Amino acid sequence: MTFARKLCAIALSLSLTAPLLSGAVTTAQADAPAKQAFGSVKLPNVSTPESYGFYSKGCISGAVALPVDGQNWQVMRLSRNRNWGHPNLIALLEKLSRDAAKTGWNGLLVGDISQPRGGPMLTGHASHQVGLDADIWLTPMPNRRFTNQEREDVSAVSMLQPNSLYVDQKKWTASRTALLKHAASYPQVERLFVHPGIKKQLCETVSGDRSWLAKVRPYWGHFYHFHVRLRCQAGSPDCKPQEPTGKDDGCGKSLDWWFTDEPWKPAKPAKPGEKPKPPKVMMVSQLPSACAALLNAPTPASVKDVTYGLKSTGNEAETFAPAQVPAFAAPVPPASIPLPAQKP
Ligand SMILES: [Zn+2]
Repeated sequence: MTFARKLCAIALSLSLTAPLLSGAVTTAQADAPAKQAFGSVKLPNVSTPESYGFYSKGCISGAVALPVDGQNWQVMRLSRNRNWGHPNLIALLEKLSRDAAKTGWNGLLVGDISQPRGGPMLTGHASHQVGLDADIWLTPMPNRRFTNQEREDVSAVSMLQPNSLYVDQKKWTASRTALLKHAASYPQVERLFVHPGIKKQLCETVSGDRSWLAKVRPYWGHFYHFHVRLRCQAGSPDCKPQEPTGKDDGCGKSLDWWFTDEPWKPAKPAKPGEKPKPPKVMMVSQLPSACAALLNAPTPASVKDVTYGLKSTGNEAETFAPAQVPAFAAPVPPASIPLPAQKP
């Protein structure tokens, strides 16, 4: 960053911090179930990006949108309005889409990232709250643009055999392994979550460099998509990090546990005569205090201002990052990119 750009960035952050602080409300005023408060916000605030709290208990200021179409990606389920994230995550998804295309992945179908200001969601996901998590389908993008309706309706494809914890060998391909390896290769990616069956598939088939397997963690769900998690980013001192994954490839005892009954046992029913416990509702006041203030921060003048790579004010220093992706053109991959050998 040049000195002039730095100054502009500081000026921008100062001018935008003021309304955020003056818009702060008392906890009592702001208190409401957090998933309703954050789930009803349609746009982010404009600010230098900052994640507050933990992946499953926090929010994000200054999120930007991943454009719904790029040369090598399409955003799915647009009605959910969850294509928002930390600019570094959005930049990484765009980079992954390009890098993966070079090794035979036709393009990313991007699922949920975060809500415009992060926070808990009305449906699905405990995490995805601080703008550093993204779900990517394990189905490659087709050679055409989906309509908005198709983006709602097209079903994701499970990689597992029916009623089984194991991968269907007819569906899994080397291109899927390569996609996960690409995603794990970036230093800012701390973890990938996949179904234990997929982790097992990787453990049993990856040869040569296996160091990246340490980042690939087995978890419930994640059999039709995988989940990318960035570490806390610079400029977010109140982002609470997760413990490091270590160097172990995770193919030993910890993986074996997933193939016992233990993780799949249904929750214990309440004892006779005992009232079932009501589900815990997280309130805005239980999130980091910056999150309550964030709910009241002003909205941008236009969606363009908060879309990654689109902001154009004539002052280059105010853009989040230079757009490195050519504007969306014909949805046909270059001939030199091999198509996946096998499509689900
Ligand atoms: Zn996820």
